Amino acid sequence: MKFAAINAELTPLCPRHLQPMNRVDIYVSADGQSAMVHTPAYKCAVEGCTVYYEAYDGYHERPEGAVKPVPPAHYCRDHKLAMYVTTHALKGSVKHYKCPHVGCSQLETVRQAAAAS
Ligand SMILES: [Zn+2]
Ligand SMILES: [Zn+2]
Repeated sequence: MKFAAINAELTPLCPRHLQPMNRVDIYVSADGQSAMVHTPAYKCAVEGCTVYYEAYDGYHERPEGAVKPVPPAHYCRDHKLAMYVTTHALKGSVKHYKCPHVGCSQLETVRQAAAAS
């Protein structure tokens, strides 16, 4: 298996706060058995927010080491990597997701469903 070439300097936004996230290191084991390897991740800078972003797991929370996805997840069709929020409009009701792979220009625009009235 070839590791994906993930851009080392991503600037993901927290999907809840639309704020820049801080670079952190988390430790993961590919299959839960093998050695833990550290992987670059990002954590929301807003106090009390526990949302992380990582290129394979996407947006998630990590209660006691578990990985709890924060929906919705969008994956790049070409690289099978979790896309991150790069920009937004209309107070976050339109979000632009980008693939973390180096050189990938895949973008996805997601509009929040309008509230039923
Ligand atoms: Zn947040
Ligand atoms: Zn891609």
